[in-house]
Amino acid sequence: MIRKTRLFTPGPTPLLPAAQFAMAAADIHHRTPEFRALYTRVLAQLKEFVGTKNDVIILSSSGTGAMEAAVSNLTSPGDRVLVLSAGKFGERWSALAKAFGCEVDLVSEPYGKTFDIEKIKAELRLETRAVFVQATETSTGVRHYVEDIAKLLKEQKSEALLVVDGITGLGTTHLDMDAWGIDVLIGGSQKAVMIPPGLSYLAVSQRAWDRMEATYNPRYYFDLRKERKNAKNGESAYTPAVALIAALGAALDWIAAQADGDLAAGRKKLVDNAETIAEMTRAAVEALGFKLYNGDSPGAAATAVYAPEGVDSGLIVKELKSRFAAIITNGQGEMKGQIFRIAHLGFFDYMDTIALIGALEQVVEKSLPQLKAHFGPVSFGSAFGKGLIAAQKVYAERTK
Ligand SMILES: *Cc1c(COP(=O)(O)O)cnc(C)c1O
Repeated sequence: MIRKTRLFTPGPTPLLPAAQFAMAAADIHHRTPEFRALYTRVLAQLKEFVGTKNDVIILSSSGTGAMEAAVSNLTSPGDRVLVLSAGKFGERWSALAKAFGCEVDLVSEPYGKTFDIEKIKAELRLETRAVFVQATETSTGVRHYVEDIAKLLKEQKSEALLVVDGITGLGTTHLDMDAWGIDVLIGGSQKAVMIPPGLSYLAVSQRAWDRMEATYNPRYYFDLRKERKNAKNGESAYTPAVALIAALGAALDWIAAQADGDLAAGRKKLVDNAETIAEMTRAAVEALGFKLYNGDSPGAAATAVYAPEGVDSGLIVKELKSRFAAIITNGQGEMKGQIFRIAHLGFFDYMDTIALIGALEQVVEKSLPQLKAHFGPVSFGSAFGKGLIAAQKVYAERTK
């Protein structure tokens, strides 16, 4: 049979056709009224998408660039910071903070888990200047409880800024930056906003802007105050990724169009979509006999699933690719070979979800002698429909 390639990866994610057309047509210079109009509009839309009254800054970089900007702009060498780490991206916060000379206190949990608020409370000090965390840890599929962490900081009257990597949290998770008191919330273009890699963005609270007046870690390209000043005039400090900005505008238009032009409502719809797909996927894999890796605190950005004992998860990734051109991902870091991850963020719908579950049933049924051994002697067709029935029920329940 012929195969259509489909990405089920947690970044890059499938591209929105309207955004691709906008990119192809973005033949404009960045010091013109045309660009200023575009940039001003996209920045305003992005605020609405993030769901904040704070200023949002766009950077031409992958998501890690915005993470670095948060560290370099908000800290000085020797600052005590608290990093919450339970996966590869949590480890990135630590590495970045150390690279900029911060004294890093760490609350660390095993991969696949989230944090105990009491442990965070115990590590929080009077002199903690910032707390760094992921909204969803993409390497494990786990959701962290940002609202509870924000509440803790308020209760403790902490001066620490709360910096949240929402790179796969935005568009998959309900996050209320202003009400909860998140100080920096970071997103990336190749995730739920359905455009290629190359842009990152940060929403920044007044408290964080004030902090920048006093911090003195080195920064040049990622100088947020400089970007903010330029953005007020509809420009960026350096040559921006014009085509990606046009794509982002088209993608945000499309998200708004999902809810009759109301971008905030469209964002909620996108989050609900990811949550529904994630729940369908969890129900399906469990019905097929797999064990969830992120079952304790599942995020809606991606579902992480254990490969059966003695089976390299890479084999499942490979089978889905070679037989169905469905691209899922292996585990990262220490979980490589042990889990596989299926993404739900951005441009995925019911049809994609059902198709992937059907393909996974085919893999379980036929492709892998190793899987056969795990699932025991099975009669022909015994995997068929198990995952799909479970997913169908979730869909019907959630959309009734
Ligand atoms: C994708 C991702 C990043 C950013 O990675 P880049 O490769 O720099 O875009 C950061 N944090 C999380 C949680 C991510 O999923």
